[in-house]
Formats: sequence, structure tokens, C-alpha cells
Amino acid sequence: MGLLVLKFGGTSVATVPAIENVASKVAQEIAAGHKVAVVVSAMAGVTNQLVSYCSAISQIFDAKEYDAIVASGEQVTSGLLALALQKRGIPARSWLGWQVPIVTSDVHGKARIKAVETDTLRASLERGEVAVIAGFQGLAPGGRITTLGRGGSDTSAVAVAAALKADRCDIYTDVDGVYTSDPRIVSRAKKIPKISYEEMLEMASVGAKVLQTRSVELAMKEKVPVQVLSSFESASGSEIPGTMVMDEDRIVEQEVVSGVTHSRDEAKVSLRSLPDVPGVAAKIFGPLAEAAINVDMIVQNVSPDKARTDLTFTVSRADLPKTLEVLKAVQQTDLAGTTIDSSADVSKISIIGIGMRSYVGVASKMFQVLAEKGINIQVITTSEIKVSVLIGEEYTELAVRSLHTAYGLDQAQAS
Ligand code: ASP
Ligand code: MG
Repeated sequence: MGLLVLKFGGTSVATVPAIENVASKVAQEIAAGHKVAVVVSAMAGVTNQLVSYCSAISQIFDAKEYDAIVASGEQVTSGLLALALQKRGIPARSWLGWQVPIVTSDVHGKARIKAVETDTLRASLERGEVAVIAGFQGLAPGGRITTLGRGGSDTSAVAVAAALKADRCDIYTDVDGVYTSDPRIVSRAKKIPKISYEEMLEMASVGAKVLQTRSVELAMKEKVPVQVLSSFESASGSEIPGTMVMDEDRIVEQEVVSGVTHSRDEAKVSLRSLPDVPGVAAKIFGPLAEAAINVDMIVQNVSPDKARTDLTFTVSRADLPKTLEVLKAVQQTDLAGTTIDSSADVSKISIIGIGMRSYVGVASKMFQVLAEKGINIQVITTSEIKVSVLIGEEYTELAVRSLHTAYGLDQAQAS
């Protein structure tokens, strides 16, 4: 028996029958003796629709009104779930961000949670009610509604779980856990039973879009055990294991590599024959940052003659045209003699695992495997628990599958 925070994403509350299904899940946890707070997203597609209403009026809109509009999706689902629970004889009450309140910064459209007040929620739970909280939204100091950025209801759930000191935060979604690789590419990918916060963060940032990155950062900071599981299975989170995201100290059997991920949303830009003098990198990346372009992998060569050097970096594919525009402007003013070339047919493959800290040869094995398949590596970057390579996009599947096998991640084939 304990206190659980359950979060249901857009596909889990997409229709009234889906919301009824969520109510049965909550009922199961109540029947098992738990106290439950629920955080809900908007019905699948609704937030997109609301955003499109804003841009239909004007491409540039007031972020305060944007928040007032897009926060409405979660208001509907929290109320509907409360009704569905009441119908089952379970006392329930909905709570909007401002009613809790979930206090945020005033950066509208991308607000950060500052505090979750617990008095109201605790009183509701004490009365024996299920507290159904609208995710994604909060209250700015000036009194206006804020939203937390797309996918933000994961972060709402973790913040509520941390504030209430819940025993667990179950994130119900349309997949039944976090996988060693994308099952659409690797048919033998398997569900990871336990994964550390650090690994989950790396997974989230390289394209395994199960949880909003900020929710994992918050869970790590507040040490909230988070479980990712499917809302389309009949059992509840206390019965079937999804993937537990938790402190690495609590994971006994740790694989060296926990997952192989890929991202096709990559473009590569090379600047050749750059002047090798102080300040050049700042001249390039300063304007890119000002243009809100996120740069990922960066490699620069040691110049052979101390006069000219080459620099390669990656950006997301959608940012490539803007990146080239910014660079051409810099080229004209500051980088005479430098040539720029780019390509968008690349993809990034990463291996992730906290075991890398204590084992040697993990990266060299990756290079060996790719060499055996005749796959050329264009760029390499590493962190303490991740090695990423940039390769030709056409080799994505081959690379991911070969690495998955090489690191012993394949699920035993059913005979
Ligand atoms: N409904 C919001 C979105 O679609 C928040 C969320 O679902 O996490 O981004
Ligand atoms: Mg989501």
C-alpha cells in the first residue's frame, strides 16, 4: 500500500472509451489499497489542433494567450476522468494547474515548474478522493496560466510525485516500456526491465521519445522511481512490470550497453579551410545560437600547418536551411576563403550504457562491427556513457541491427 501518481498520455485518453479504460486502471490500484493521484494529457491530437488554431489567426502570437488556449485540452480530460471514476463509485475531483497550484516561471509556452503546493492535493487524498490533475499546465507569479512545452505532462507527473513523496510514478503510454532499440527496426529488441536515470536521459536526447527529457532530469534530481508502461494491457502498474527508471545503485544486473538508438533527424555541415586563429568557433556558433539552432556533434581537426583547419558539426534536418543561411552571412563578413558543404542523408547511431564507465573496449567494438559491415564512420563523439557515430543514412538499419547483436542485446528467438 502506498501513494501512486499515475500519468496517462494522449493516446491513453484519446476517446471516452479510452478514458473509461483509464478509470478501470485507477480502480484496480484503489482496490489494491493505494492512494492515487492521476495526471492526464489532452486527448491525442487535441493540443496540435489547438496550436493550429493559434497559428491560423497569426503566425506570431502572444504566448500568454497561446497558453490559455492550449492548456484547455487537459482541462477536458481531467474533468472527464473524474466523472468516469465517480460513475464507478470512486470519489474523484479534477484539479487544474492554477487550483493546485503548480507554480511555474513566467516563460509562457515553455514554463518551468518552481513548486507544487501540496495542501490542496493532500486534503483531497485525505478525503479519500482520487486527485485528477491536468498535466502540462501551471500558474505564473502574475496569475496567468502557463504551459510547460510539448510533452510537458510527463514533467507535471514527476513533479507531483516528487512533491507528494509518492512511492512510484507510473507513466502509462502506448508502448509497454523502454526497449533496447526501436522494435520497428530490430525485431529482437527487448524490453529493458530497469534503466538508470542517466541512461534514460541519453536515450531521450537521442531520439527514443518515450519521456520528455525534463521529466527524467527532474526524476533524477528528486529520486522519483518512474515506471513506463502500456495503458493498453489489462493489468495495472502494480501487477505487470514495464520499465523502471531508477537510481543506478539499485540496478544489480547491469549490461555494459543497455541500448542502441538511432536518429535520422540529422544534417552534417562542414567548413573547410577555416582560419586557425582564436575566436573562429565563437564567430560561427554564436550566430547559430542566436538563431536558436541547436548544434549537436562538433569536431574540429588539428591543422597541419597551423594556418587553416576544418570543422564539422551536425544540426537537426529541419534547421539545415537556416544554418546555411546564417553561415553564409558569417562567411561574407569573417570567413573569406572558407568553403561550406552540407549533407542531409546521414544518421546518428548511439550506444548507451553506464557499464561503459568500467569496461574498456566498448567503443572499439562498435567501430569493429561497423567496419566488418563496410560502413564508413563520418563523425564520432563520446560522453561517459555514450558513443555516437554519424554514418550514411542508407546504413541505419544494418548498423543498428549489427550493434544490437554484437552487444548481446538480442532477445532469444522463440523456437
Ligand atoms: N498535451 C500536451 C502535448 O501534446 C502535453 C502532453 O501531452 O504531454 O504536448
Ligand atoms: Mg508524451
